[in-house]
This record gives sequence, C-alpha cells and structure tokens, in this order.
Amino acid sequence: MIESNNYKEALQNPIFEIISKAAEQLNVQSYVIGGFVRDYILERNSKKDIDIVAVGSGIELALQVSELLPNKPKVQVFKNYGTAMLRFEDIDIEFVGARKESYQADSRNPMVEDGTLEDDQNRRDFTINALAFSLNKETYGDLVDPFNGIQDLKDKRIVTPLEPNITYSDDPLRMMRAIRFANQLNFTIDETSLKSITENSERIDIISGERIVEELNKILMCDTPSKGFLLLYKTNLLERILPELTALNSVEEIEGQTHKNNFYHTLEVVDNICKNTDDVWLRWSALLHDIGKAPTKRYNKKQGWTFHGHEFLGGKMVKKIFQRLHMPLNHKMRFVQKMVIMSSRPIVLSEEAVTDSAVRRLVFDAGEDVENLMTLCEADITTKNPKKFKKYHNNFTIVRKKIVEVEERDHVRNFQPPITGEEIMEIFNLPPSREIGQLKESIKEAILEGEIPNEYEAAYDFMMKKATIMGLQVVNPKM
Ligand code: ATP
Repeated sequence: MIESNNYKEALQNPIFEIISKAAEQLNVQSYVIGGFVRDYILERNSKKDIDIVAVGSGIELALQVSELLPNKPKVQVFKNYGTAMLRFEDIDIEFVGARKESYQADSRNPMVEDGTLEDDQNRRDFTINALAFSLNKETYGDLVDPFNGIQDLKDKRIVTPLEPNITYSDDPLRMMRAIRFANQLNFTIDETSLKSITENSERIDIISGERIVEELNKILMCDTPSKGFLLLYKTNLLERILPELTALNSVEEIEGQTHKNNFYHTLEVVDNICKNTDDVWLRWSALLHDIGKAPTKRYNKKQGWTFHGHEFLGGKMVKKIFQRLHMPLNHKMRFVQKMVIMSSRPIVLSEEAVTDSAVRRLVFDAGEDVENLMTLCEADITTKNPKKFKKYHNNFTIVRKKIVEVEERDHVRNFQPPITGEEIMEIFNLPPSREIGQLKESIKEAILEGEIPNEYEAAYDFMMKKATIMGLQVVNPKM
C-alpha cells in the first residue's frame, strides 16, 4: 500500500496535467476519483479507465480536454447522465460533474442536482471508492478523503460512506458490488453493512439482469469465486438471483444413505477450474454444471440416491437462466449448455477402462470443445479420498493422451463423413431414402468403433459389404 502526504507520483500520465489545465481555463475544480485512486494506493495495476469529477460541468471539461489534445479525440456525451467520455491512448477517461443525489422510495432513479465534491463523494458506494486526488494547481496530488477511506484500505474493509441502509436501498446493485469488491480485493464487509445487505436483499429484484451479470462475471473472474458466492448466499442475494444454485444446498438421508452437498461441491469445482482457465464461460459452466441435480434427485432402495438425466435437464435450465438474466443467447449460451450436458461423459469414461472407441466418441461429440470439457471434468474431482482422487486424475491423463492419439489417427473432432449422402445416392442410383441414412450411419459407427479408419477407401469397401447385405445394386461404381 502506498501512503503519502501527496500523490503527484500517481499522476505521471500527461493526461492529468492536461485535465488540470483545461479545468483551470474553465475555472472549475477537478479531481481523479474512485477506482484509479483506490487501485493506485493498493498498488493494484488493474485499471484501464480513469474517473474525473468536475465541480461544474463534466461534459464541458471533457470537450475542453479534447481541444487541448493534439489529435482532438472524439468526446462521447451522455446528456441524460451528465457524463462524457474520451479515449486517450488505451485509457477511457470518464468525466462527470459533481452531483448531489436524492432517492425517493418509489423510484429507482435519483433526483440529481449540482453539488460540491463532498456531495459527490457522499453518493459513492464505499469509502474506499470515494477517495480523490486533487488536480487543482494549489493542491495538485493531495488526497481528499472525508470518510477515512485510507484507514479502511489498511484494515481491508468495505464500508459505506453513509448509513448502510441508505446506500444499499438507494441503489441495490451496491450490495453486489460490496461482495464483488470483497472478493476481488480480499476485503471484509463491515458487519453493519452485511446485516443491511441481508435486510435489503429483496431490493435486488429491481436491478436489471445485465447489471447483475456484470457483477457475477467479475466475481467469477476472481481467483476464488467461492468467497463471493458464499457471501451472496449468506446475505440471501443468491436465492433471488440464482435459486437453481441454492436449491443444491441440501443433504438428505434415507435409510442411512446420504448424497453429497452439491452446492458446496459446485463452489469447489468453480474454484478448481479458476486455476486452469480464464474463460468466463467455462467458469459459468462449472457454476451451472450440476443445477439439474436438485429437480432430478430420487431415492430408491437398489441404487440409493440418483440424479438420472440431470445433465440434460441442466442444459435446459441453462437457457432459462440466460433468458431470465438477459445474458447472451448465442454461441456462448450454447457452449455452456453443451458443457453442462456433457459434463459426466469423461467421468463415466475414466471410471472404467479407457477404450479407444469411447474416446473417439467423446471427441466426436464434443468436437472443438473437448479440451474445455476435460478441464471441467478434472475440476469436478472433489473427492476427499486420496486414492480415488489419484485414480481419477490418472485416468484423465490417459484420456487426454488418447484424445491426442485418436485425433491424430482418425480426425473425428470435426467429423466429415468420408462418403457423402449425395455420393451414396449416385452410386446406388437411389433417391433420398432410409437406406441412404442407414449406410451413412453405419460408416460413421464403424469409424467411431475403430473397425475402419476415417478414410475414403476403407469407408467405400465397408459400404459395399454393407450394401450387399442390404441387397442394394451398384449402378455407378466409384472405384
Ligand atoms: P472496477 O473498474 O474494478 O469495477 P471501479 O471502482 O472503477 O472499479 P466502476 O464501476 O468503474 O468501478 O465505478 C467507478 C467509480 O464510480 C467507483 O469507484 C465509485 O466511486 C463510483 N460508482 C460506481 N458504481 C456505483 C454505484 N452503483 N453507486 C455508487 N457509486 C458508484
């Protein structure tokens, strides 16, 4: 952590001098505020944007800054919000006029009026996000910290500038932001805040899916998302956002037989997968891979607890969740669905002897996504029995090796049948018919079973034998 009487050091980027000069020309005061300041002091270099507050018009300041820059970059103006943005090198710089916000209980949107810097700091979500560096000539680089945010940075605490009930009920998204920051920064949420979030949890319902998902994605992109999800759970937010997950939090016992708690298991799988992928959609797949287990859970004397068909039902539930939370309904969703639907396949495979044909089928069905599927399945191993843990991992190593071998030999990942339907129709002079389908299918099966290699000649010979059995006449032989 960097502590100083003055933070000029933080303002080395030439843009700050330019903003300072533009503000002076307009006779307004200006400050850097929020994430940039917080992350500088924490020595976190993760920021790619800078927030500037002007005690006056943020839009006018942005326009003036653009005038002073050599290439006069375009200023994007958001009139309704009184904000403006411009890009300098690879940094987005957002300008806002200092404002005072007052919320009415019946409206989501605050009444906004011009205010002082302190008014603006009051409307910020957390003391650590209300810190500002002065860009004014006399006080350039001075820290403005009315709520002792520096102390909260030291104590690693998330604290609201105002009474927490006011902060959270004014904008309920802040409840998720508190949890997200606690997770990202490894901070603790102040007790009164945590209590207030729990009390206000229902208010999350007024927040749009898009904004919720933005926070969920940031939680999922942490090193240990289980921390965030446990806080969401503890404060009752998770129940409202993703009830499919909280439904997994139960362990039932019948006739002395129990099943594992699939909620805690899921969180472990998510933490595991984060060590091996930065792909947010694969992380989502880990989060949702078992959601079909709550509605499919059954008990019978013979087998004990079963979750038959949970993968397939889970796949359907993925779509519903994506729709509800206004997430993309494109190939990203289909990827998550595919991962969920196939999530047990390599496991079944690794529990038994790993045969070539089973691996070939896996590669055929998973296609391009087979490595991602393996990563998910390896993360899914949460057994506390060291013998089993080792056995499953060893088996997966074998599966991975075989995937490479089978792929080199048979190229089934993007399987194209060696003989097309059109060709078969021509050879036997047949219209589209059941026989054509049967022949095609039997060639594919023979390849997947390893009876023949994935090559034209072998497929042709195989087809001829099959056709003879089916009583088909060759009219236009190809070979
Ligand atoms: P990160 O970029 O890691 O998300 P950040 O703090 O820059 O961190 P932004 O969402 O970019 O987060 O917000 C910038 C600043 O705006 C915050 O530091 C905070 O002061 C303020 N802010 C953002 N969202 C809210 C909110 N919902 N309520 C109050 N203040 C907010």
